[in-house]
Amino acid sequence: MENVCPLCNALRPVEKKCPVCNQLLVDGGSLNNYLGPYSPYGETALLPFQSAGQCIHLLYCPVCAYDIRVTLALVNI
Ligand SMILES: [Zn+2]
Ligand SMILES: [Zn+2]
Repeated sequence: MENVCPLCNALRPVEKKCPVCNQLLVDGGSLNNYLGPYSPYGETALLPFQSAGQCIHLLYCPVCAYDIRVTLALVNI
């Protein structure tokens, strides 16, 4: 059993829509990726954004460039 982020591991698609133009938002990646190199086999448990059982993603709208941060609960696999 391992706690993983469903978006980072492509277990499920982005389901949020842009509140401005109703387009499906695009996953801009985990904020972990902006802090340093992401290693799927590395020290994910020590990364600040996953330390509380959560992964924070930046979602953006490809049409109007609206962006939002979402917090995802990690899931057991
Ligand atoms: Zn993630
Ligand atoms: Zn939009």
